[in-house]
Amino acid sequence: MQTSFTPEQLADPQFAHSESILRNCVHCGFCTATCPTYVELGDELDSPRGRIYLLKEMLEGGQPPTAGVVKHIDRCLSCLSCMTTCPASVNYMHLVDHGRAHIEEHYQRPLVDRLLRNVLKTVLPNPSLFRVSLFLARLGRPFAGMFKLLGPLRPVGAMLELAPSSVKGPSPSSAPGSFPPEGERKGRVALLTGCAQPVLDPGINEATIRLLNRLGIEVIVPAAMGCCGALTHHMGKEADSHANARANVDAWSAEMDGDGLDAVIINTSGCGTTVKDYGHMLSQDRAYAEKAARVSAITKDISEYLTQIGLQDAKAPEALRVAYHSACSLQHGQRVRTEPKSLLESAGFDVAEPADGHLCCGSAGTYNILQPEIAGRLKARKVGNIERTKPDVIAAGNIGCMTQIASGTAIPVVHTVELLDWASGGPRPEALG
Ligand code: SF4
Ligand code: SF4
Repeated sequence: MQTSFTPEQLADPQFAHSESILRNCVHCGFCTATCPTYVELGDELDSPRGRIYLLKEMLEGGQPPTAGVVKHIDRCLSCLSCMTTCPASVNYMHLVDHGRAHIEEHYQRPLVDRLLRNVLKTVLPNPSLFRVSLFLARLGRPFAGMFKLLGPLRPVGAMLELAPSSVKGPSPSSAPGSFPPEGERKGRVALLTGCAQPVLDPGINEATIRLLNRLGIEVIVPAAMGCCGALTHHMGKEADSHANARANVDAWSAEMDGDGLDAVIINTSGCGTTVKDYGHMLSQDRAYAEKAARVSAITKDISEYLTQIGLQDAKAPEALRVAYHSACSLQHGQRVRTEPKSLLESAGFDVAEPADGHLCCGSAGTYNILQPEIAGRLKARKVGNIERTKPDVIAAGNIGCMTQIASGTAIPVVHTVELLDWASGGPRPEALG
């Protein structure tokens, strides 16, 4: 694709990077068929190729974007299915990230949208605030339908509907400290405990730590670690997401330089995609570029790490059929596709892969709150495909997908690591009853 950025624009490394991405695109349109919003809406401007044109025009012009352009960029899930399909290796992720930061800087959103985004940015990364907000959401749930009729307040209705019926107190597994291995120490890792995940389902971190400890791995939860910054990153709030990234890079670098780390372990794949991209995000920050790249290089999804060290003596306690939902952030963002399924199969579970597995469930960070209609359509499609495999349980590696899918089906939804922990001597996952 030809571009016409000015020399002044290209002096900015972010623009130079976007230009090189744009030049790789050959307009072939292969990506359109695997883009969930194009599949649902059938509008070229809601396809990757259409959005790439819009992003090019917007960035080249350097002007505030129109509401129409923002609408089509906002409708993008950042699922990165287009990157899996693209034969020209177009890095759509970095391009749309740049576009979102440009929108955030140059576009004045309507008041309600701005307020909502600020509430999400403040509440979601803070487990204490998030816990309180879920309690309040439970009280407000009967009014969800009313909010959904009120146009701009529709996202509030979506938020109320997604709130779980009960919320547990803080789990010791999310508190800072060291969790020693059983027997001889074979490795040492840091676990990103997350912000929303330990509130929505503390059992995931508990299962992760138990399983790793059982396999001889010491697990560290550093006190200075915080939100990974993915939610604000996807909203284009660059200053916030970069501040989160720097804090985590400092926390993990201190451990790497101290007693050493074999890996930074992530069990929420949406966070993993962002942490693996810290090296790029902070590449223009002289004080952090090298440290951030070092952290990204040792970051692993829990399924990658378990594949590396090997599951020993895992045996499924019951013959269960498991529908494995491959989160977009895992299959497209991190290209981790076979590991979770192979681990479940090696533990003795009967694993089914639903049709259209490459299409997003509609969760996508805050997408199911900010774009409830499209998210609802994608959820219905996903749940239908999963239920057709007739599973006893659904497994996924991302709390956002788990919450989204669970809100559309009566089949229990668990994290992959909860099944693996159970098969290795841990307790039966709570969701299985
Ligand atoms: S990231 Fe997903 S929704 Fe966005 S353009 Fe690519 S395939 Fe479509
Ligand atoms: S598949 Fe790749 S090269 Fe083809 S239009 Fe899509 S982004 Fe461009």
